[in-house]
Amino acid sequence: TMSQRKDIHKVLIIGSGPAGYTAGIYAARAGLSPVLVSGFEVGGQLTLSEDVSNFPGFVGSVRGPDLMETMRQQVLNLGVTMVNDIIVEVDFAHRPFECSSENHNAFYADAVLIATGASAKWLNVAGEDKFRGFGVSVCATCDGFFYKNKHVAVVGGGNSAAEEAIYLTNFVRSVTIVHRREQMRADKALFDQLAQNHKINIKYNCVVEEVLGQDNPKGVTGLRLKNVRTDKKEILDVSGVFVAIGHKPNTDVFKNHLELDKDGYIKTTMGTCKTSIPGIFASGDVQNPHYRQAIIAAGSGAIGALEAERFLNKRQD
Ligand code: NAP
Repeated sequence: TMSQRKDIHKVLIIGSGPAGYTAGIYAARAGLSPVLVSGFEVGGQLTLSEDVSNFPGFVGSVRGPDLMETMRQQVLNLGVTMVNDIIVEVDFAHRPFECSSENHNAFYADAVLIATGASAKWLNVAGEDKFRGFGVSVCATCDGFFYKNKHVAVVGGGNSAAEEAIYLTNFVRSVTIVHRREQMRADKALFDQLAQNHKINIKYNCVVEEVLGQDNPKGVTGLRLKNVRTDKKEILDVSGVFVAIGHKPNTDVFKNHLELDKDGYIKTTMGTCKTSIPGIFASGDVQNPHYRQAIIAAGSGAIGALEAERFLNKRQD
């Protein structure tokens, strides 16, 4: 419907995580009548988080999906136009900027704020693809429930791997963390929790060479591991494997349109959300690989919206 009318919006926001929603709040309150295109995962990565206890404003914790639904309602109440669609092509060479969607909408805007976030990385080993959704997962909070009393593995050595492992112990019989180095990089507090949990066992210096499984019924039966020190191989019998080896930014659409860093994150001027093109802003995980925190993404969304407002009103800072 929007494509026929060629409306030129002041601000188009792409993404519906904490960065996109916060940008929506600030842009709406600045009178910019923003349009927000929500992307492939409405609410973003927090919708995969059962227990958020570090977002200010909640005593105890809040469920990720509930937090994101509350933000969505807040954004709607402020009059932001929300569109459930996915941007698949952009033209940032001319103004107004143009973004086209999967549903064949064309959005025109004087400023664009990109808040498309990041997605989980995969191991790219044999069997992983085949058993994705059949024992291979990147989300313990989504899938952990299905492994009641089973043996599972978590791959990775960071905070995500540690959190996934701890969460899984609510259901499973045992968790084996498979980490490629001899030391976890998870924070001390999380590491201490791992060490104290009798259901968790850590295999250091090991990589997954193959995800093993069966066809009938389709499912994972184990992992072929290799010790990177000794080259010794072994089979770890597990019925599930949770991959927690980091994330990659959702920037495929912006390749060749904006400057990205070597890992694909959108480059912004230090301390700002300003990209290589004036009028295009990037907020949250898509421009910052370092923190991956909802509160930081939210703050970044506010910065991006304030900068977009200044840009549109031709104020320099
Ligand atoms: P991360 O810190 O980058 O850790 C990724 C882990 O996966 C590393 O241990 C890495 O090994 C390993 N790895 C990467 N590629 C691999 C591969 N191809 N094969 C095997 N192992 C591989 O990622 P993250 O744990 O997702 O955390 C990202 C950021 O979010 C961090 O800043 C983290 O502190 C933050 N975070 C915070 C919390 C919290 O505060 N509670 C929770 C989750 C995440 P190496 O160690 O050898 O590099």
